[in-house]
Amino acid sequence: MRIGIIGTGVAGSLLAEGLAGFDVTAFERVAPGDQAEAGTGLNIGPNALKALRLHMPARHAALREASLPWHRWFVDLTDGTRLFDLDMRDVAEEPGLRIRWSELYRLLRAPVAGCTRNGHALEALEEDAAGRMVPVFRTAEGLRREGGFDLLVGADGRYSRLRALAAGEPEGTLLGVCIWRLLVTDAADCPYDDYGQWFNGNARLLSFRVPGGAVYIAGTFPLPVEGQIPEAMKTAEAQRALFTPAEGAPCPAVAWMLDRIAAHLPDIHWARSATVPVLRHALGGRALFLGDAAQAMVPTLGQGATQAVECGVVAARVLRAGGDAAAVAAARDARVDFVRDFSLAASDTLLPPADVVAGTRKKMGPEFLGRLRRLYTEVD
Ligand SMILES: Cc1cc2nc3c(=O)[nH]c(=O)nc-3n(C[C@H](O)[C@H](O)[C@H](O)COP(=O)(O)OP(=O)(O)OC[C@H]3O[C@@H](n4cnc5c(N)ncnc54)[C@H](O)[C@@H]3O)c2cc1C
Repeated sequence: MRIGIIGTGVAGSLLAEGLAGFDVTAFERVAPGDQAEAGTGLNIGPNALKALRLHMPARHAALREASLPWHRWFVDLTDGTRLFDLDMRDVAEEPGLRIRWSELYRLLRAPVAGCTRNGHALEALEEDAAGRMVPVFRTAEGLRREGGFDLLVGADGRYSRLRALAAGEPEGTLLGVCIWRLLVTDAADCPYDDYGQWFNGNARLLSFRVPGGAVYIAGTFPLPVEGQIPEAMKTAEAQRALFTPAEGAPCPAVAWMLDRIAAHLPDIHWARSATVPVLRHALGGRALFLGDAAQAMVPTLGQGATQAVECGVVAARVLRAGGDAAAVAAARDARVDFVRDFSLAASDTLLPPADVVAGTRKKMGPEFLGRLRRLYTEVD
């Protein structure tokens, strides 16, 4: 069986590595080494680490080596009042990790460089006389065809071209939340380390250190559901007002972040939080979708890249054993439904009229922690 993988991000790279020895070619639109110095940071959940530890131990070791452990998760108000404090080992078998985006891609792409064609952006889809899919790529030299494939895997992210070509452009659902992200590299004086969140009303800062003396900061605030992000919110003054408590001063951690936001405003990446309906396969099973291409979810529990890891690991296992796209769906979809529902439910405090103090304290209760334990450990 000839397999073509579109996109060597998280899911695509892991799938290509897991299918070593099979007839696999991966196609990636960016050049080799692209994103090496760019991008922000991210946290990957203990569930992805467990999947890698069980099935791809070399990749587990490489990621651990290049990252910081995610041991602790706390939630404060922006005045410093503590609402939630969790030792990750209470709900997981191992810590998660914190890493720079560029480093994650470098480590996942390196082992599959030999089977990857860079500078190939999927543009169109044709069929050969034998009924095999023929992807058409835009390259620097013009359009290129690489022959027919029995299975094409769309691991090309949230705006998957393969999914649009095979099943139509999916309709996204907006959560009604703006999310911005920033990587601060001059962060030696940052007054905190592990994963923290700070609320002022429903507006929230999230931040942690990543390797190389850098700090990742993400901010969210409510938006009218169909609304654009107002330009007036993209100023240092507006962000300072958003996260400054009504009474008193911001705590030192928040004061530090507000200064960094002001200093690095042009580097901030602004987006609206959205989901798309899950689609695992199309074209009679000849197109399979993994990661964000299949299941883009709200980022509240940091499960986007984490679930893409699970997807790559599980799909490789299923396809190696002779399974098809339907078998991957059987192995993945119930788990993905659970994670998407949980991520959405956990977003409650990001939206009015939720009471952040009551809602966050409730998350230290057995119901939320039980679901978190399921999320972080139910991987085989
Ligand atoms: C700034 C930012 C911060 C994030 N932070 C977090 C976080 O902290 N935690 C978390 O879990 N998730 C986070 N996410 C979400 C996370 O990025 C995604 O959920 C995750 O990368 C999905 O992995 P994937 O393998 O499905 O796709 P991606 O990692 O997006 O990879 C898709 C790949 O396909 C390639 N590609 C795209 N189109 C084509 C085409 N037409 N032809 C060929 N190749 C193509 C791309 O170049 C890329 O290499 C963040 C997202 C962003 C944008």
